[in-house]
Amino acid sequence: MLRTHTCGQINLDDVGKKVMLAGWVSSIRDHGNIIFFDLRDRYGITQIVCNLPELTPELLELVNKVRQEFVIQISGSVVARSPETVNPKISTGSIEVILEDAKILNTSDALPFEIQEGENIGENIRLKYRYLDLRRDSIKENIIFRSDFTLKMREFFSSENFVEIETPILTKSTPEGARDFLVPSRLNPGSFYALPQSPQLFKQMLMISGFDRYYQIARCFRDEDLRSDRQPEFTQVDIEMSFIEEQDIMDISERLIKYSVEKTSNIKVDVPFPRLTYKKAIEKYGTDKPDIRFGMEIIELSESMANSGSSIIESVLQEGGRVKGLLIENGESISIKDVDNFNEFVKQKGGKGIGWIRFRENEIASPIKKSLKEQTIKNLRESLKITPGSLLFFLGGETSWVCNILGEMRTEIAKKLNLVKEEIFKFLWVVDFPLFEINPDEDRIQCVHHPFTSPQYDDIDTLDKDPLKIKSRAYDLVLNGIEIGGGSIRIHQRKLQEKIFSILGMKPEEYNEKFGFLLDALGYGAPPHGGLAFGLDRMVMILRNEESIRETIPFPKTQKGVCLLSGAPSPVDRKQISDLHIKVDFQTKQ
Ligand code: ASP
Repeated sequence: MLRTHTCGQINLDDVGKKVMLAGWVSSIRDHGNIIFFDLRDRYGITQIVCNLPELTPELLELVNKVRQEFVIQISGSVVARSPETVNPKISTGSIEVILEDAKILNTSDALPFEIQEGENIGENIRLKYRYLDLRRDSIKENIIFRSDFTLKMREFFSSENFVEIETPILTKSTPEGARDFLVPSRLNPGSFYALPQSPQLFKQMLMISGFDRYYQIARCFRDEDLRSDRQPEFTQVDIEMSFIEEQDIMDISERLIKYSVEKTSNIKVDVPFPRLTYKKAIEKYGTDKPDIRFGMEIIELSESMANSGSSIIESVLQEGGRVKGLLIENGESISIKDVDNFNEFVKQKGGKGIGWIRFRENEIASPIKKSLKEQTIKNLRESLKITPGSLLFFLGGETSWVCNILGEMRTEIAKKLNLVKEEIFKFLWVVDFPLFEINPDEDRIQCVHHPFTSPQYDDIDTLDKDPLKIKSRAYDLVLNGIEIGGGSIRIHQRKLQEKIFSILGMKPEEYNEKFGFLLDALGYGAPPHGGLAFGLDRMVMILRNEESIRETIPFPKTQKGVCLLSGAPSPVDRKQISDLHIKVDFQTKQ
């Protein structure tokens, strides 16, 4: 070993000992006759004191050569720091090591950025020199947390009799609603593997094999346009179980989360998590991923404003629309400018603008004050228990459009008013999703989850009568307004699976070609089964209070899917391409 201790280990108990340490020089402070090095490794920082007059000429020369981020090995004696120099912020802050010998293990070129400053510099440079960025405490701790967190999950799974099983990376397309990453097959000209969007079909196969309880910390690949919480490759904690119902999966998931979160953080997880139907989630929060850390739910105003005197509201109601609103108790903090911005936002969404009433002690302010009837104001004050200083936004139109807009405004207002407390963690199950929806761009029916999700319906023969009305046996888990997991009870009967494929517009030739192996497998005694997958990157992001999943992934890609460190994706040798039996249009500029 090149060291007797780590840089985070030594304390007052070690005073008087001779120690050997190795690490990176994170800072050098020159005080004339004394030079201080902060020596850093994964575990912490130890202050090394170089008393120049006491060093041999060779050691003095070496000390003078040392620059930031050099890797050095030192030996010395541990002494207690004088009381006024104790640094309570670091674990070794009560001691320092008096340098007696040293060796430069490696030098370092001039740094592209100060390691400690990493947080404040551009992300691209951080990603290009990610190995340096990872020397920084906050990101290093995220990565270590991630490892501890998955370890606790594994412990839990093992205690519950789950089997960890790997599924293929080179596989066939499993639709989860995104584009596939394809890999050409050299040995099978013209054929391609798809990287898995999830292990969905293989985990179902494992249930058919009888494994009964499966999990995998699985890498998944989806070729989507990236946003701050997406990466082309990401990690799922993937679970599947047999002979269970929704309640069982939810129960095991809650216990898994409680165990792994409480063992690795100070966060207290209360179980069971509340549940909300999809319909209620949209009605109350305008989204299927509600943030329930704060109230300010969407309120129904159609009746209370029916005879308000406002012609706009009345015509909305006559056309079958609804009027809904948001009541902000300390609405004075929402400025005129904010109101104008919301008005613009509604216009961008195709509306005429947002209606609003500010309630004062004995009067109101509102752009429609003149037409509003006294009685309506009085009713609103009473029925909504409005206190002076409140601001009521209202909007009329088609229900889901209205809820959607108010839902976005709700989130925005909560941010403005600081209603969201970072240290609060609120989990929520959203259940009773519709099975199908219309793809707005392509005007065709598609699954809300994936096509293997079981409907809450057992009359196969009439399933296609009104498919959009059918609910699924799917459930999503939301944490602080972010979807962190989702799953379902699956279809385990061949006939029903075929029916779903045909409702999706697939002919038997097509579904047999794509999913024949699944259909065959369902035919050989598939047990009732279901499962779910958690987004590990997102969970770590939220638990660590980060804004982006890139802060939780050691080597993430940019929004354009580029690894700035390695340069992937990159052109390859033409020979390699021709071996793969593919032709590239080299003229096409990306
Ligand atoms: N395979 C699903 C997904 O990736 C999760 C599941 O249904 O278990 O979202």
